[in-house]
Amino acid sequence: MRVVDVGGRPVELHIRRSKRVHGHRIVVRYGFPPELVVRPRATDAEIDEAIATHLEWLTKQLAKAAQPTLGLERLKLTEEQGRREAQARISLIAQSEAAALGVKIERLTMRSQRSRWGSCSSKGWLSFNWRLVLAPHDVLDYVVVHEVCHLAEHHHGPAFWQLVESRRPNYRESKAWLDDHGWEILAYQPPLEVAA
Ligand SMILES: [Zn+2]
Repeated sequence: MRVVDVGGRPVELHIRRSKRVHGHRIVVRYGFPPELVVRPRATDAEIDEAIATHLEWLTKQLAKAAQPTLGLERLKLTEEQGRREAQARISLIAQSEAAALGVKIERLTMRSQRSRWGSCSSKGWLSFNWRLVLAPHDVLDYVVVHEVCHLAEHHHGPAFWQLVESRRPNYRESKAWLDDHGWEILAYQPPLEVAA
């Protein structure tokens, strides 16, 4: 790790060595220190040079990085609690939507993905990100309805969106909420144990 002066502010920059990178690249993700990925045998001098090359870009990225607003850092929800609650709430909505659409859910599982909210396979298997329990109810509800609608329409064409709209006329608000705040929820790090 290096501490880099970014616009007068010390910033921890993690150095990761990877065989899959030619030269170097910098990755900035919310909730994680910025990371410089270099080739396995990069020397200190090469790392210094890579940092110098990316410094201006890094400064801009950190300045415009969105600030969290949901206050999730104060939350004490563990992954086990979150998964249990997600499973209960999501399966209730999924089953009633499936009944309304006349489709069948073969399997419903909770996952811990860093980049997606839900998925639907052609076998009728649905999976959802347990972190959806951190979202407002309408947003969780929309994601579930979205995936159940895929059991009837396996694509993102007009027929699919018409179906979603017929089930949840205000779905666009939930979609917009996910665009604005979804990253905060994906970055939520649950405590490892329940506080007694
Ligand atoms: Zn979809």
